[in-house]
Amino acid sequence: MSDNGEVTSSNRPGSHGSPEASGPAGLRPRLPSPLQEVADGRFARHGVRLLLKRDDLIHPELVGNKWRKLAPNLTAAAGRTVLTFGGAYSNHLRATAAAGRLLGLPTLGVVRGQELADRPLNPSLARCAADGMRLHFVDRSTYRRKTEPGTLAGILRATGAEDAFVVPEGGSNSLAVRGCRDLGQELAGHADVVAVACGTGGTLAGLAAGLPPGGRALGIPVLRGGFLGEDVQALQRRAFGGPRGDWSLDERFHCGGYARTTPGLDRFAEDFEQRHALPMERLYVAKMLYGLVALAEEGAFPRGSTVAAVITGAPLG
Ligand SMILES: *Cc1c(COP(=O)(O)O)cnc(C)c1O
Repeated sequence: MSDNGEVTSSNRPGSHGSPEASGPAGLRPRLPSPLQEVADGRFARHGVRLLLKRDDLIHPELVGNKWRKLAPNLTAAAGRTVLTFGGAYSNHLRATAAAGRLLGLPTLGVVRGQELADRPLNPSLARCAADGMRLHFVDRSTYRRKTEPGTLAGILRATGAEDAFVVPEGGSNSLAVRGCRDLGQELAGHADVVAVACGTGGTLAGLAAGLPPGGRALGIPVLRGGFLGEDVQALQRRAFGGPRGDWSLDERFHCGGYARTTPGLDRFAEDFEQRHALPMERLYVAKMLYGLVALAEEGAFPRGSTVAAVITGAPLG
């Protein structure tokens, strides 16, 4: 590790191999992603059908909504270094790093927490480094101000990446939000309500825009705090010029934050995993399904309705 807090890996992406010429489409994503009906008594006894929208199967490494959000950005980057931001457990950083390796694009991850620079990398960041992502650690106050032009310029200067293609935290820029419309379009005619876990809300913003009239999107935030609705509105304004689709949020199921869990959630996740042979991502997907099952048990969905749960990710393998 160098003294400016950066880690580089020895196996940087090469500039040979076939997918690079054709961009993300050359990676042969499984799209539309499979839609699978599962039998679960907690829905069935209320007359509700449960479908799983298996975005976790789109690509083994560019998983789920990260594919839908990153693919248009990787194309727009046109070979420039892709610079993006995330916390130490960020699925978005991992997906960006994997994309860099697969497509031969240089990637640079700006990581929240200067103190992490002096510690061994956790498995998630170690994977990023192994995929050739250059990691640059910044203190929390710089990280908070990273979208301010002066702060961003400082980060670009410090990393020598002035000409980088900058993707925001969580990948949720307008290209990403528009990319997530496909998710709604793929579900047209299949479900009355589509539930999705939310971090930045970018996936929900795009999903809602892609659903046909009458379709409803239900976002389940994994982070505490009541501002996500405003964020989703702002994301839709930027991507589409105004509000799109019918969406709402249910903020009761976050378990206190992103990487937090509770014994109840863990038991639920293991049980659901076994019943339905679904390897379960714990930061987002488990909380969404936990909330969805609770809502079904409350009788929140009318009899005869079909609910689709978007499986936005897979466990760190
Ligand atoms: C990143 C991520 C989300 C959150 O997506 P947003 O568009 O930021 O709301 C949901 N689920 C999984 C598995 C993720 O990795």
